[in-house]
Amino acid sequence: MSRSAHSVLRDTFGYAEFRGAQRDIVEHVISGGDALVLMPTGGGKSLCYQIPALLRDGVGIVVSPLIALMQDQVDALKQLGVSAAFLNSSLDADAAREVSRQALHGELKLLYVAPERLMTEGFLGLLERLQQDNGIALFAIDEAHCVSQWGHDFRPEYRALTVLHERFPTVPRIALTATADAPTRREIVERLALEQARQFVSSFDRPNIRYRVTLKDNARKQLQHFLESEHPDDAGIVYCLSRIKVEETADWLKQQGWDALPYHAGLDASVRNKNQRRFLREEGVIMVATVAFGMGIDKPNVRFVAHLDLPKSMEGYYQETGRAGRDGLPANAWMAYGLGDVVSMRQMLMSGEAAEERKRVELQKLDALLGFCESTACRHQTILRYFGEEHPGACGQCDNCLSPVDTWDATQAAQMALSCVYRTGQRFGVVHLIDVLLGKSNAKIEQFNHQQLSTFGIGKELVAAQWSSVYRQLVAAGLLTVDMEAYGGLRLTEAARPVLRGEQAVWLRRDVQPAKRTGSKIERSTRAREAFAGANDDPLWQALKAKRMELAREQGVPPYVIFHDSTLLEMLNRKPQTLDEMGRISGVGQSKLMRYGDDFLEVLEQR
Ligand code: ADP
Ligand code: ZN
Repeated sequence: MSRSAHSVLRDTFGYAEFRGAQRDIVEHVISGGDALVLMPTGGGKSLCYQIPALLRDGVGIVVSPLIALMQDQVDALKQLGVSAAFLNSSLDADAAREVSRQALHGELKLLYVAPERLMTEGFLGLLERLQQDNGIALFAIDEAHCVSQWGHDFRPEYRALTVLHERFPTVPRIALTATADAPTRREIVERLALEQARQFVSSFDRPNIRYRVTLKDNARKQLQHFLESEHPDDAGIVYCLSRIKVEETADWLKQQGWDALPYHAGLDASVRNKNQRRFLREEGVIMVATVAFGMGIDKPNVRFVAHLDLPKSMEGYYQETGRAGRDGLPANAWMAYGLGDVVSMRQMLMSGEAAEERKRVELQKLDALLGFCESTACRHQTILRYFGEEHPGACGQCDNCLSPVDTWDATQAAQMALSCVYRTGQRFGVVHLIDVLLGKSNAKIEQFNHQQLSTFGIGKELVAAQWSSVYRQLVAAGLLTVDMEAYGGLRLTEAARPVLRGEQAVWLRRDVQPAKRTGSKIERSTRAREAFAGANDDPLWQALKAKRMELAREQGVPPYVIFHDSTLLEMLNRKPQTLDEMGRISGVGQSKLMRYGDDFLEVLEQR
């Protein structure tokens, strides 16, 4: 291990130790090797190219698709005393020329550039000159999965990046992504010609995220309760499926007194940018958004991600929830889910424009997600298994581990539910089916003469909510499917046959009614966890945060660029009294110690 990499980590970044594979990656790239780095969000990918760039001759070129965030990344590096700049379409010609000049004079250690800019002859010319003069330290290709056309972040410009290798074969390349699956990984290797690169694959577990799937009852009330009891002051993201629901939910939250903002692709770009900026720069803002929001949001202290609608796949769920807790502190992934979601999601996918084959893939992906929602096993384990990684289970950080779910032998109920679908002609929705099972008399029953059916009134042992649970789980398990032509009517699938014939038993989870969860073990332990993690009631914590906000405002940067929450928390717990002690807090490097050490010591002294 070269000493210097470790001293840069300590002196510049203020961290005591490398994390996970960071040390090996940094060493490998410093010695000129190519690397493909697969690490989950929050794993610490940036250091993997920043430290080698600082230790090798010349400037490190970082390709990043996220123009909106380059500024913040460069600001963060400047805070660390690292000379960095970016080139993208937001700069005017003079500013761009100035950046090129700095690069040519060897005044920059890191230069961030948008992929479309990189491929221009002008920029390639600049690279040639840099190569001849001071050298190019490395090429870092961030968000490397953008090269994959199956990924939802496909950027055609990424395809052209092989040019780097062809024109500058001696410059090491490091490609980084948080996308875990094997096909995407293979495509990155192939498209970026990284066959010779060493692969560093980290565990994709996010142990600090607590996953919970709640049965949807009254989604707004449930969300309100979740926010009040667990995140009264925190920043977080609420995901909804449609633009209209985003708007309505954001409005409603605002009326309830929350600092909530909408974000979706239908909003004016200026509104979107303004809202994103507020989310990043201020504290405690709740972003209500479609999946259009979030890629590359590297705000470290997003404390929760709530889903009011189902994500489309496990990949989507993992990526969206992964935006919580990048700083490694406790965070929540919370989802409210119900039968209506299953039906409307299936309908949406089936009625979409996509080709049949694509639809089939999408439906399979949705089924995997539904299986996850209904699962009674450890959530961390289920997620990792999906990505081909083992996990021992019993994480103590998910709903199923914290309050284990009962299952019951629902074979007979399933048979009744399925045969009711069959007898009514496979074209009715759940509400009507349940009315038949319960033997209700109403106009629709009479209209179709359903009181004559053998299944009429046979289901009185269960109540409507229980039947709804049975149907939801049968749909989720693929025994029933949603008929497009019949407006959400249910049809049997092949998989239902063995159950109807009595050849296969059905075990279902026993739903816990949301109301009964109040004061349960989960909420109590979560509250304890937040109190420990957030220190929200401690006036000193509030004072440290206020100082950070003041400094951030003065410089027009997000508060986390000054110090992360984890750094402030360590100050709160250790109460350093001297600059020397302050310098030992994780996240306080030399540059920040000089800039802010006294300011924060003063806050600590006053208490
Ligand atoms: P990624 O890009 O993989 O999502 P980042 O590079 O943004 O992750 O790092 C996530 C967080 O972890 C940041 O707050 C970063 O400062 C912190 N971090 C990274 N490496 C270390 C380390 N070795 N020790 C302590 N904190 C670290
Ligand atoms: Zn678990």
